[in-house]
Amino acid sequence: MAKIGLMGGTFDPIHNGHLFLAKQALTEFGLDRVLFIPNHIPWMKSGRKITDDQERVDMVLAAIADEPRFEISYIEMNAGGNSYTCNTVQQLHKEHPEHEYFFIMGADSLFSIEKWYHPEIIFEHVCLLVAVRDDCDLHALNDKKVDLEEKYQAKIYLMHMDKVDISSTWIREHIMQPDEVADKLPGNVYKIIQERQLYIN
Ligand code: ATP
Ligand code: MG
Repeated sequence: MAKIGLMGGTFDPIHNGHLFLAKQALTEFGLDRVLFIPNHIPWMKSGRKITDDQERVDMVLAAIADEPRFEISYIEMNAGGNSYTCNTVQQLHKEHPEHEYFFIMGADSLFSIEKWYHPEIIFEHVCLLVAVRDDCDLHALNDKKVDLEEKYQAKIYLMHMDKVDISSTWIREHIMQPDEVADKLPGNVYKIIQERQLYIN
């Protein structure tokens, strides 16, 4: 049996916030590895054009190349269509019932998870590891945790880490300012963005 972290996201682009979260989860919860699972179609972000799968995969691969305990999973890209976390965790559990799965997320995701497709199936199959984010109020976050634990018998842990003020949206919007974005994502990811002229206009 292994303890496996699941880091789901659009990764458009992957950034240091995602990587800090995954590292914190590894060390604080003694995980064996973390799977980065890029969405195919993030149906909750339907208003914006999402960068092609291959570009997002290449950026994830570049970002995780130096950490052997980080892996990519193509489970959602291979499934095609809308990406539903409930399907992903069910499939992983079916393929490897011996493993224990921990879904890693930021506070914004915990606040919206009841709008996701079948949240009860997600809570049935994984523990959640949650990081603070933005100006999220700690009391509100704790209330949400307790509320979900009672309603769904969910297992939720808040990670002990400082807030990391980085988002893909901000990076996309400031991509023409190298001095601003350079310390927010790995150098090899920024290189891919520049070479392929992603996020321009
Ligand atoms: P976007 O701005 O496009 O929504 P994002 O930076 O939020 O991008 P996502 O791919 O949407 O990145 O996030 C995947 C997961 O990582 C989500 O659960 C999100 O809450 C979490 N996450 C991303 N960045 C951070 C951060 N800086 N701190 C805490 N959690 C984060
Ligand atoms: Mg997001």
